[in-house]
Amino acid sequence: MGTRSSGSSSSAQRRRSDLPLIKCPCCRVKNIVELTATTDANRGRIFFTCPDHEKDGSGCNFWYWEEGYVKYLERKGYIADKELRDVKHMSERKKAVNNEDGGEDEVKKLMLSLVSIGLEIVQILKGMLVGFILLIVALVCLVLAVWLK
Ligand SMILES: [Zn+2]
Repeated sequence: MGTRSSGSSSSAQRRRSDLPLIKCPCCRVKNIVELTATTDANRGRIFFTCPDHEKDGSGCNFWYWEEGYVKYLERKGYIADKELRDVKHMSERKKAVNNEDGGEDEVKKLMLSLVSIGLEIVQILKGMLVGFILLIVALVCLVLAVWLK
């Protein structure tokens, strides 16, 4: 790759996005590629384009900044709302999820303990029932044995 930005004070080690690289809707042949801008105005900005896109505007005209590509993917149904939020509101989403998880965890724990207690009771009852049936069978056998003598 060799995309070391020279003379830029901003971090060149920008994390690349996890957006899916779809098949180009324009030529329907090549897959969209993720690139980092190297112009002075937009250095380090991520954009998505078809490999056949030419800078002079010829070839494929598929070209989006990261935000535009996210919107495009969402509009076309390639990504769900959840992933969109992942990209756009990472920190907000984390907070919300943590809150939800906290509440759900409590309920889940309670449910699990209730279920396990219920299962134990069922097991005990089953054991008792089996023992009871065996006892009845034994008694019937005993009675029959005495009767037939
Ligand atoms: Zn194309």
